[in-house]
Amino acid sequence: MRILATNDDGIMAPGLVAMRQALEPLGEVTVVAPMFAQSAVGHAISVNEPVIAHRMDLGDGRMGFAIEGSPADCVKLAILELMPERADLVVSGINLGANAGVNVLYSGTVAAAIEAGFWGVPAIAVSLEAADVVDFKQAAEIALSLIRQLLDHGLKDRPVLNVNIPDLSAGPPVGVRVAPQSLKGWRERWDRRQDPRGRTYYWIYGDADIEEDGVESDVAALAERYVTVTPLRFDMTAHERLAALRNLDLRL
Ligand code: MN
Repeated sequence: MRILATNDDGIMAPGLVAMRQALEPLGEVTVVAPMFAQSAVGHAISVNEPVIAHRMDLGDGRMGFAIEGSPADCVKLAILELMPERADLVVSGINLGANAGVNVLYSGTVAAAIEAGFWGVPAIAVSLEAADVVDFKQAAEIALSLIRQLLDHGLKDRPVLNVNIPDLSAGPPVGVRVAPQSLKGWRERWDRRQDPRGRTYYWIYGDADIEEDGVESDVAALAERYVTVTPLRFDMTAHERLAALRNLDLRL
């Protein structure tokens, strides 16, 4: 099996190192990942500048491609240029920080998986909830176990999957829950400051927005310390509204 490993935290990020090493028993793993951190770039692609690919020693005898570009660039370039044969599976991550709720839409980690979905390649985004101490090795073992199970069931015609692993410093997760994406994001605020030249600048910050009781979602399941699995689609059409909109009989 040919596996493409990528991420949005950069090619030397420990989450990608751990995931790639865990995937190696499954097949031939090719690493094509951003040279620099690209978190929260969403599905950006480079159109006004060249995308430079550097062959790079990954430090343990393996070679990979460090890309001066976005996570989506990495997957597009890997599929069309860098991999001699189409990947059978794309794994993006492990991201430092959960990608649940509306953060899914900002995430470069998830965008890389969705880009693979555009090309018909099964893809899994994996993210680990941030904590003071993060154990990517344990997270990679959890992800690998899920990937093995999914492979056993056959990845053909599977949607893009978004996997989140709860903070492991509080102990192992309590189980796996298939859950829909929450519409929660962050309770965001802007910190307004002055730079040394007296100009005002803003820096966004916030806390995770907690899901209300009784709502079944990725955010709620993560808070209960479940590993979450969410199937994603990239058809953004609100199909249920097409008929009502057509009934408006909009004209020139
Ligand atoms: Mn990231």
